[in-house]
Amino acid sequence: MLSNDRMGIASFRFQQVTDNTKMSFGAEEHGDWRPHTGCKCPFRTKKLTELWLIEVPVAHPVVRGASAVLAIPLAPVVLASKLIFSPTTPTLNIVAHLAIECKYRCSECGNVDYYTFEFSGAGKESRCGRYENISRLKSSSREMTLDDLYHIFLRTWPSATASDYNSLTKNCQHFATDMWAKI
Ligand SMILES: [Zn+2]
Repeated sequence: MLSNDRMGIASFRFQQVTDNTKMSFGAEEHGDWRPHTGCKCPFRTKKLTELWLIEVPVAHPVVRGASAVLAIPLAPVVLASKLIFSPTTPTLNIVAHLAIECKYRCSECGNVDYYTFEFSGAGKESRCGRYENISRLKSSSREMTLDDLYHIFLRTWPSATASDYNSLTKNCQHFATDMWAKI
């Protein structure tokens, strides 16, 4: 069994949080989410200049067994440093939210902006804007428009809704890695 020491993580004080807030709250707060307005030109005129799989810090403290925090066993995409081992259950509580972020330039008006795609307790979301506090895990140089990326987003878990969110089996990390695999 892995211990906190083996994982190189300082011991963590677990606290119970009664507010069972959806995942996106912690990500928006700790990831410093900034909504942007963007231009009103069609998605097909917006050419991606950057494309990333990003990691956003999520709220502390870790909550055991609650849906407020992601908890998936042995998630392959998460770095060991992001895992916190619960002393009472064989579950690795993950304190990171994953999403897809792109930067684009509009060929019609020249506007440069960001768009973010993700899945959380709020369901699937595609929004103009970005998290300011992130780590970029992977990048893609594939040429595409925001319209192309938006269609990849639509094709990823096409019928998923907020009620499908499950911190163990169907969370932001599963969604972001599935969407990334189509890019
Ligand atoms: Zn434009």
